[in-house]
Order: sequence, then structure tokens, then C-alpha cells
Amino acid sequence: MKLNSKLSVVLGFRSLALLVFLGFFMAFVQTVFDFRERQDEVTRTIDSIVTSAQGSASNAVYLLDNGIAQHVIDGLSYFDFFSYVAITDDKGSVMAEFSRQKMDDNVALNTSYNPVLSLVVDNFSRESVLLTGQTLADGTPQVYGKMEWVVDNHIALSGVYFRAVRAFGIALAGYILLTLALSILYHYTLAAPLTRLSSRFQRVNIKSIATQKISHLRGHEQNEFSLIVNAANDMLSRISSGQELLTERSQRFRLILDTAPALIYSIDNKLDFVFANKATASFYGYSIYELKGRGAEEVIAPIDNHLLDFIKGFIGSTKRQVNKIMPMKNATGVQCHMEMTLVKFKTPEGHSILATCSDVTKRVQAEEKIESLAYFDPLTSLPNRNKVYDTLNRSSEGEKGMYGIAAIADLDQFKRINDTLSHSVGDQLIVKLAGRLQKEFSFSDLIARLGADEFLCIEENVSESLKTAVNGAEVLGERLRACINKEIEIGLHSYALTASIGVVVFKKGSSNADEILQYADTAMYESKRAGRNRVTLFKNEMATQAAQLLELERDIMKAMFRDEFYFVLQPIVDSENHHVMGAEALMRWKKDGKTISPAEFIPFLEESALIVEVGERILSGVCRYIAELKQRKVLPKGFKVAVNISAKQLARHDFIETVSRVLLKHNVKGEMLEFEITESVALNNMADTINKIVSIKKMGVSFSLDDFGTGYSSLSHLKDLPVDKLKIDRSFINDITVDKQDENLVRSIIQLSKNLGLVTVAEGVETQEQVEWLMLQGTLLLQGYYFSKPLDIEDFEATYLPQDLPNK
Ligand code: C2E
Ligand code: CA
Ligand code: CA
Repeated sequence: MKLNSKLSVVLGFRSLALLVFLGFFMAFVQTVFDFRERQDEVTRTIDSIVTSAQGSASNAVYLLDNGIAQHVIDGLSYFDFFSYVAITDDKGSVMAEFSRQKMDDNVALNTSYNPVLSLVVDNFSRESVLLTGQTLADGTPQVYGKMEWVVDNHIALSGVYFRAVRAFGIALAGYILLTLALSILYHYTLAAPLTRLSSRFQRVNIKSIATQKISHLRGHEQNEFSLIVNAANDMLSRISSGQELLTERSQRFRLILDTAPALIYSIDNKLDFVFANKATASFYGYSIYELKGRGAEEVIAPIDNHLLDFIKGFIGSTKRQVNKIMPMKNATGVQCHMEMTLVKFKTPEGHSILATCSDVTKRVQAEEKIESLAYFDPLTSLPNRNKVYDTLNRSSEGEKGMYGIAAIADLDQFKRINDTLSHSVGDQLIVKLAGRLQKEFSFSDLIARLGADEFLCIEENVSESLKTAVNGAEVLGERLRACINKEIEIGLHSYALTASIGVVVFKKGSSNADEILQYADTAMYESKRAGRNRVTLFKNEMATQAAQLLELERDIMKAMFRDEFYFVLQPIVDSENHHVMGAEALMRWKKDGKTISPAEFIPFLEESALIVEVGERILSGVCRYIAELKQRKVLPKGFKVAVNISAKQLARHDFIETVSRVLLKHNVKGEMLEFEITESVALNNMADTINKIVSIKKMGVSFSLDDFGTGYSSLSHLKDLPVDKLKIDRSFINDITVDKQDENLVRSIIQLSKNLGLVTVAEGVETQEQVEWLMLQGTLLLQGYYFSKPLDIEDFEATYLPQDLPNK
């Protein structure tokens, strides 16, 4: 410790300064009073001296006696504070004078000058007195001369000065001695005990604080030092319990870190491990203690250089925190996905980073799985509709001006395969076909499965020329068709599939995915409509048609709600006697006052599922009508109303129940009804159809096979169908009297029908000749404009039903 910072020295000097200041102040006040007193004393002394010398001096000037004057002057010169005295006569001539010093301008030159005294009083002061005699008549004394003198104030007051100097000197010496004594006192009573105390403090061992106590200073057990010692001991015990708490907490913290599944570690700015938990250590194949102090270059770099680069990049950046999911390798080379958070924090040595890595492998894999589910069809692993949208939308953003091709292939009647051969065979067929398509169309940009039996092929950037692209589209469509047509073998069986294909050429940048798919779809439906197993290239007219279709569909929905569908009746007569044997119910749509023919809307009703609902309403309407006729007793014996049943209606699993429910509801016998089904409807799912026909026939309903001859059914199927009638399509009847071929065909159909024990119906009979020709073929049923057009029920009743049928 420096001397000038020692407490005893500092206190000594401060005391000295204080004492000197106070002592000097008091000495100064004392000196001022002393000075005043002495000054008064000098003045009084001079006054009495001058007064006593004044008489003799007045005599000397009155007598003009220089001797006396000199005598007076000599007497005054005896006083050392007179530095000059003179007596002059009334004329002003000096009679006698005395000067202690050489005078200059009547002022004695300074020899007694005291700079300290000069601060309070002039060195010299000049005075004079008139020397007078008797008093004149006017009362003023007679002036004979003058006595002058100069007092040397510094000499007169020198005693005071020296006394003051002595007093200050003695005081100073005393103070210095006192300071010395105080310093020693301070040292022993304060500084030394404090020093001892501090060394006792220093001896406290911070590691075993709990057992340590600072002992009291001897002789200071009751004073302020003891308070310090007590306070320090109290603090030690508090630190000790704080330390225990801290240790416990840090152990708990360590336990948490070591049981945490996440990797938690800290690396300093030299890339050395400062801290690492167990998970980190085992991840990198070390123990916790081995890891501490080791460089990341040594630990991480050999396993995962990419990670080390990432950490270095973060340290070098200005970012405070990063969060990233990244692949990481562990010591055994296993790769997993980790969500890593790096945080920078300041330490005295610079920046360090804290790293936390949680294993999110399962999550990442799940996300990948979800992504694959979202974009790929699980059955065939082909890209799905989402992927198609992505590809088409991305493609339309790409190179502008290029043409691309999209082809949709919808397998024909695949539902039948599923229904008759089981879904498992259906799935196998789809998987095999998908594999084949993928192989044969690997040159294309995308081959995807759009829906259950729908595939899509996309070729981007085909050409800049529309013509080339259109040619390419036709080729692609045909190639797709050929590929699907090739037989597929499953087990011992082989299956031949066909597909209706729609192809569209799209200009990149001018159509979006929705439009492209819609156009291809429209073309594909055109293929279906035109008889399936063919390729149709999309043309703009189709779009308008499609739009019209859409509108019609909307109108049909409205018509359903407004109940705008009803039926008309066309009589069916016996060829022998032209008696009305029954009628066919034909659906009509009264739309905005106009009657719309079923040819215009039935196909659309059939395409949507609406036909089921509308068909049921017609059936119900017919039954209600029959019940009404029966009630009014105007229903001829054996009279049957034929109702057309569409494929969708028949395919419904609840069709049988629907029929029985409707019959029951209107209390109508099945014998009064006939269902007309077409060949294709019947053949759609033979087994199911036969079952349904048999069940419904049990309710008394008879069946007729409509439009016979137009389908491609083989006659062998006909045998198996439990129908009662065969309706020869009107296109053949039309030409029987003009076309020999049709004539022969109709004749053989009638023969076949007879052989099978079926009743034959000829529809579309328009002329007398046709009737005559048909009558020659034996007993038939006839239907056609020749007899009547379809009529509203009121007209039908008025014309063909007896107004008052006799009771049977
Ligand atoms: P379809 O079952 O073959 O019905 C006979 C069609 O031939 C009727 O046409 C009828 O008016 C017409 N026709 C009858 N005689 C002659 C004739 O001498 N000459 C000509 N040129 N035509 C004749 P419509 O009423 O326009 O019905 C067309 C088709 O709509 C029907 O053909 C049938 O397939 C379907 N259809 C009608 N009503 C229904 C129904 O309620 N349900 C279902 N699913 N289809 C129905
Ligand atoms: Ca019919
Ligand atoms: Ca028909």
C-alpha cells in the first residue's frame, strides 16, 4: 500500500489541514485585535509627545531661537518611530529639523518597509501642528510657526508584527506535532485493526465456506469492528446456503440436460466444445468428459463436414439465431433429420454458440409420406391428379408459344369388370396396365392415374407448330389406345380392355390445368358417345357443347324441383284385330310451356344419376294412373303399360325394393306393368340383370327387350335373358317394305322370337304397307304413328279407353 493512501497518513494530513486552518484563523483574529490596540497606543503616545513638545516649540518660534528649536527636535528624535521632525517660522523657513532617513520629496526613503504591515497601514504618515501665542481680538490665536513630523508606522507597529509571526510559528510547530501524534493514534486504533481484519477476510476459503468463521479482533470485541466481523460471518453463512442451493440446482440442471433426448452443446469462438450433454457425447461417440475442450474440427468434421460448415457460417454471420431442419450423421454413420437451433451468446472470450438438435426424423419421414400420398396414387404408384395439376400449371408458366398434348384414357365399362370379376381382379388389371403404360410412355413427361379407371398422359413442348402438335396428338392417342387394347394376363385368364380417349393440344401459357383437363375430358366423352374404344381430338365446338350440357344439367335439376316431367302414352295394338293391348309410357319435359323430347335430355339424365330419381317418378306416376283407371273401372282386361327403364335404374342395388314399394304404395298389380330394357342395359351385368329380372317378374311385371337389333349382343345371350317380349327397333321396320335386307332381317328376328317363345313387338309402324307386311308374319304387337302418336293421358283415355267399361 502506498504511504499517501494509508488511512493513518490520510487522516493525519486532513487533521493537520483542519487544525492549521482553524488555528491560523484564530491567530489572525487575535493579531487584528492586537494590531488595533497597538495602533491606538502609538497614536496616544505621539499625541502626548507632540503636546508636551508643542510649548517649547512655540517659545522657540516666538523668540526665533534656533537653539530651543534644535533642543525640541533633539528630544523628539529620541523616539525611533519619528523618521522626520521640523520646526518652521511663520515665514516657512526651517529653524531646526531632524531626519532619520534620507528624504525624498519630504518622504523618508523606505528602510523599515514591511510588506505584511503595508497591507494594513501605510509605511509613513505626515502630520503637523501650528505653533501659536496669545489670542487676537477676533478670537483667533496669533500664529508664529509650524511643527511638522513624519511617523514611521512600520517601526511603530513592528512589535505587533513580530509577536504575530512568533505566534503563527509556534502554532504551526504545535500542529505538526499534534498531527504526528494523531496519525500514530489513527494507525493503532483504526488502520492496523482494519489491516488485520482484511487479512482474516482473505484467509477465508471459499470452497469450505460452510465451516469457516472470522474471529473477533482482540480488544475490539464490543465496538464497531465486532459489528463488521458479525456482519461478515452472517454473510458467509448466507453465501454458504446460497452455494448449496446453487450446487443442488446445477446438479438438477445437469440431470435434466443429460436425460434430455436432444443434443445440447456449446462451442466457443475457437470451435472448442465448452459443454455437451450425454446425448451429444454419445451421438459423436465420446464421453462427456472426453468431449469437453475438444475441437469441433476433430469431433464433427470427420463425420459431418457439412454440419461444421453450417456452424462456421453461422459464427461468421451477423445473425443471432438460426433454426433449420437438416440431415445429420452420427458416429456410426446413421443419418437422421435434426431440427437444429443455434444461438449466439457473449462470453468474456468472445462469442460462443449454444446448439440444440432434436431428432425429427419420424416427422420428416411422415411429411415425406404425406407428400407422396398427396401426389402419388397408392395402388399404382403413378402420379395422381394433384401431381397432374402441379405439372400442368407449372408447364403453363413455362416456355410460351410451345404446344403440348394431354390425353385422357377412360377404360370402357370397367365397372362391369369390377362387378362381375371382383374388385381384386379389377385392381390387378389397373396395376398391370399402369406398369405397362409407365414403360411404354416413359418418353412422355407425365403418365398419371386420374381416377379409378382414368389415365392421363402429358407431353410438354411438342412443337411450335400447331399442325405438328395436332398430328402428334392423334398419334399419341392411338398409341395409348393400342397399348390399352393389348391383352392383360392375370393368372390363367387374359383380359382385353378398351378405352375411350380424349386428346387436347394446348398452347403453353394460355390455358390452365383445369381447362386442359376439361377439354380432354370433353373429347373423351365424345369418344364414349361415339361408341367407345376410339380417340377424339378436342375441338372448340365441343367446348360449347359441353357448356350447353352443363346448362341443361342445371335446368334438369330445376325441372326436378318443379316437377316438370310427365309422361304420354302411345297405344300398342294387336296385329290381328287392332285391339289396343296396352301402351308405352314416354317421358316428356314441359319446359317454359314447350314440350321437350326425351331424345334431347334422356342422355344427359342418364349421364348424371338424375335418371334414377326421374325414372322412379315416372314409374310412380304410371302406377298412380293405373290405380286411378282401375278405380274408375275403365281399365281393359290384360291392359299393360310399358315403362322404359334405364341402365342406371336397373343397376341400382335397391331397384327391386323400389319397384315393390311403388307397386305397394299405389296398390297396383305387377301384371299391369311392363319394363322395357335395352340390350346394352341387359348385357351390362348379365348375372345381376338376370337376378333382378327374375325377382321383379315374381311381382308379375313382364319385361321386353327394347330396340332389338341395334345392339351388338350375340343371340346366345338372348336365350339367357328371361324377357317376355322382343321389340324390333323402328329403324328396321322403317325399311321393311323398301329394303330386301331389312325385310329378311326382320323376318328372321320374328322367327327367332317365336322360337324362343317370346312375343314380338314392331315399333315405328308408320304406313299401311308396313302394317300389311307385318300382318303376314303372324301374330305380332304393333306400335307406331300409323295407329297413334304418343298422346296426353286425357286424349289417350278419350280415344282408347271405354268411357264406361262394363263390370267384369
Ligand atoms: P323408345 O323406347 O324406342 O321409344 C319409342 C320412340 O319412338 C318414342 O320416341 C316414340 O315417340 C317414337 N315413335 C313411336 N312410333 C313412331 C313412329 O311411327 N315413327 C317414329 N319416327 N317414331 C315413333 P320418344 O318419345 O321421343 O322417346 C325416345 C326415347 O327416349 C325412347 O325410345 C326411350 O328410349 C327414351 N324414353 C322415353 N321415355 C322414357 C322413360 O320414361 N324412361 C327412360 N329411361 N327412357 C325413356
Ligand atoms: Ca321403349
Ligand atoms: Ca324402342
